[in-house]
Amino acid sequence: MTLIIKLKKDVSNEAIETFKQAIEAKGFTLKDIGSEETTMFGVLGDTKTLDVRDVLAYEIVSDAVRIQSPFKEASRSFHKENTVITLKNGATFGNDESVMIAGPCSIESHTQLDTIAAYLSTQGVKVLRGGAFKPRTSPYSFQGLGLEGLKMLYNTGQKYNMAVISEIMNKEDLDTFNTYTDIIQVGARNMANFDLLKALGKAKKPIMLKRGLSATIEEWLMSAEYIMAHGNHEVILAERGIRTFETYTRNTLDISAVLAVKELSHLPVIIDPSHAAGKYSMIEKLSLAALAVGADGLMVEVHNDPENALSDGAQSLKFDRFSDMMQNLKTLSHAIKRPLQ
Ligand code: PEP
Ligand code: MN
Repeated sequence: MTLIIKLKKDVSNEAIETFKQAIEAKGFTLKDIGSEETTMFGVLGDTKTLDVRDVLAYEIVSDAVRIQSPFKEASRSFHKENTVITLKNGATFGNDESVMIAGPCSIESHTQLDTIAAYLSTQGVKVLRGGAFKPRTSPYSFQGLGLEGLKMLYNTGQKYNMAVISEIMNKEDLDTFNTYTDIIQVGARNMANFDLLKALGKAKKPIMLKRGLSATIEEWLMSAEYIMAHGNHEVILAERGIRTFETYTRNTLDISAVLAVKELSHLPVIIDPSHAAGKYSMIEKLSLAALAVGADGLMVEVHNDPENALSDGAQSLKFDRFSDMMQNLKTLSHAIKRPLQ
């Protein structure tokens, strides 16, 4: 539980300083969460050991309440403004625009990646995705090209001025990902790999944290908290469908997760309709829904030859479908005054 302390109006800066020092002397850190009208602090640390009555004993305190939120750094009550994350080529998450991330599920060859990236750059896509280390359900499925694939992704991104994102599976690969990616993706299967999350707190790049297959929104935000508590505040959340009793779609897209995250947190949140639906025919409509609900971005799988893709062909869009989708997304983004980057 988190402790929020509100001070009375018109208290001198000196009195505030003395109060802060007194609380910090007890081993806590105070985070300023006030606004122009109110002076307010969130207490960081093991607040169970801090008695609310002791805090209320200070004359300048008007209120001290415990709130249920188990996450702090990720919580909107600790950080009112949206976190805005800007990549080297200007793509920006969290600023009332939406970013399109697109590319193949897996990097399969230089030609495949170059063909897809060349096409996507004609569509104005600023962020290229591509898996090099693949978390496949079966050990017999294609496992990705590994480091060789990551280098291809990096070089292709440079060639087309696109930022690149790829999934990390192992914390030992962090230096490599710091070098070759612009966003480091944590896949759904690793959302609760706390060792990995702690290591990513030391990453030099923003992290895209996918929601776990069966994770609640709170568990997902707690995973973001791990990364933030270890030093990296640039976290983008990605809803990619959750497991329900339904089998018609690959997963069930929880569209309301965007709204829930916006209420609970200041972090940007995007939608990955590809892994949610598992069917290419549903991607455009789900993407429109994602923009309508205010997602900070989309991540869509695109392939030059989905029938022969080494992974996730069934949910990958061919170029002409992607172009049609972009047209319709732009029309919507214009209507709702939320530009699509
Ligand atoms: C992916 O993005 O290629 C991927 C494996 O996604 P998820 O972790 O959401 O299944
Ligand atoms: Mn995939």
